Amino acid sequence: MEETIQSMELAQNYKTVKENVTKACEQAGRSEQEVTLLAVSKTKPVDMLMDVYRAGARDFGENKVQELVDKIPQMPSDVRWHMIGHLQRNKVKYIVDKVYLIHSVDSLRLAEEISREAVKKQVEVNILIEVNVAQEESKFGTTVEETATLIREIATLPGIHIRGLMTIAPFVEDPEENRGYFQKLRQLAVDIGNKNIDNISMNILSMGMTGDYMVATQEGATIVRVGTGIFGERDYSKTI
Ligand SMILES: *Cc1c(COP(=O)(O)O)cnc(C)c1O
Repeated sequence: MEETIQSMELAQNYKTVKENVTKACEQAGRSEQEVTLLAVSKTKPVDMLMDVYRAGARDFGENKVQELVDKIPQMPSDVRWHMIGHLQRNKVKYIVDKVYLIHSVDSLRLAEEISREAVKKQVEVNILIEVNVAQEESKFGTTVEETATLIREIATLPGIHIRGLMTIAPFVEDPEENRGYFQKLRQLAVDIGNKNIDNISMNILSMGMTGDYMVATQEGATIVRVGTGIFGERDYSKTI
C-alpha cells in the first residue's frame, strides 16, 4: 500500500513526541517504560487514528462520550481507550465497560454512578481523580485540599478503583510556568499514597499536554496526553 503524506507525517510526529518523552526521562533519570504516550485523538477522523496506530500507538484519548462510542468499533480491539473529558453522569453507562481508564472523576456523585454501572455490567473500572491544581475557575477537578477526603469516600465503592491523579495545567507559552503544578500533583499523590487507604493505588500521574509534556515527564508523569503535537491543530468548525 502506498503511504500518503498524511500518514508519514503523523507517524513522524508520533515518533518525535516519543523521542522527546525518552529524552525527558533520561534528563530525570527515569525509565521511558514508566511513561505512556496517550494520543489524544478528539475531533480527528479514524483514518488519522489508524496512521498513528500503525506507528505504534495503542493508547488513545477522547473527551466526548459520543465520539468515543463511535470510534471504538472502528479501531482494532487492542486499543486502550481513555476518557479524558468531563463526564456527565447520564452518559456513564455508555462507556463504563469500554474504557481502559477514566481520567476525569472529580465528584462522589459521578463515582457513585460509575460504581453502580460497573456492578450492573460486572466490570471493574479504573479511574483517576482530576485535581485542579492551578485553581483555574474554568476547569473541572477537585481542589488539592479536598482530594484526600474524596478519595476516602470513593475507595469504599464497589467496582471502581482509584489508580492515581490527573491534572490539566494552564495554557502557557513557557512550560516552565507549569513545573510547580506538576510537582504539586506528584507530591499530593505521594502524600495520599502514604495514608495507606484500602483499595486504591497512586501509581498513575496523568499530566502534561503538547505544550508541556517534557516538563511533566521530568516531574514524574506516567501518562502524558498529547493531541496537537501528534495530530496537528484541531478544527472545531467541522463536526464529525
Ligand atoms: C485536548 C486535551 C489534551 C490534548 O491537548 P493538546 O494541547 O492538543 O496536546 C490533553 N488533555 C485533555 C484533558 C484534553 O482535553
